[in-house]
Amino acid sequence: MKILRTKNAVKSFCLNLQLNKITIGFVPTMGALHQGHLDLIKKAKDNTGSVIVSIFVNPTQFNNIEDFEQYPKSLHNDLELLENIGVAAVFIPENQEIYPDKPILKIDFGLLEQRLEGAFRPGHFNGVGIVVSKLLNIVKPDKAFFGEKDLQQVAVIKRLVMDLSFDVEIVVVPTVRDKDGLALSSRNLRLNPVERNKALTLFRMLSYAKSELFNGGAWLDILLHVKHEFSQISDVRLEYFELVHAEDMSKQDSFNKDIPLSICVAAYVGKVRLIDNIPVNH
Ligand code: AMP
Repeated sequence: MKILRTKNAVKSFCLNLQLNKITIGFVPTMGALHQGHLDLIKKAKDNTGSVIVSIFVNPTQFNNIEDFEQYPKSLHNDLELLENIGVAAVFIPENQEIYPDKPILKIDFGLLEQRLEGAFRPGHFNGVGIVVSKLLNIVKPDKAFFGEKDLQQVAVIKRLVMDLSFDVEIVVVPTVRDKDGLALSSRNLRLNPVERNKALTLFRMLSYAKSELFNGGAWLDILLHVKHEFSQISDVRLEYFELVHAEDMSKQDSFNKDIPLSICVAAYVGKVRLIDNIPVNH
């Protein structure tokens, strides 16, 4: 496995693959790797000839300095996991390599980012759009792999690729969970055992809401119950719990079998902000 630290090193590594007609799969990450990341990498390995992973905690997508500073890091372990799973190269740039200067460009995703994460994390998707554009321009992959865990991010990136004509196929991989349902996330490392237990409320409520919807429950009643349940748990603060169109993220308020629906949630558990979502009918 090659460890690449500069844009030029990545470009020449990838050019060599392209000259040899080897397709490139790209998996961008922020490190502290877990099985969710490894599923993306497995999918990339099954679908392309050579896989490149990036590890970069992108400062421009954090709207909260504490979240950025406390973001878990485990580079040694990450490299071991990547070596074992068999990726061709890992790109680990310093901040300066990606941001020689603070970008002045602003990317506005319009309606796609006015709710959910976009509403609660102002500027987040601008930062995501900029870093993903930079990484796609550096790696020039045939396919790039993203997790459904970050559903709104998937919508934003698909739109970015369409609007800016990036020559890449976006492949979406289902959310990987622990046995008890908790969605894997690097931020779970910041939860103590009591908090981890409370964090299960997110998946418990998503599952409850999905089954109630299937049984003909009215969304507003379901929502009331969910909010009540969250309010009963100390140190857990619900930010949003929404039924949305899974592709354009528009707000929905009833079950409709003809629209791909997902339920999305964000909540603080102690000081850690977690997100999750569940597909309802697709
Ligand atoms: P991150 O390192 O958190 O920025 O995530 C890197 C990629 O892994 C993103 O495309 C995420 O959506 C994806 N990812 C994170 N957690 C999971 C999970 N539990 N299951 C599947 N994909 C995930």
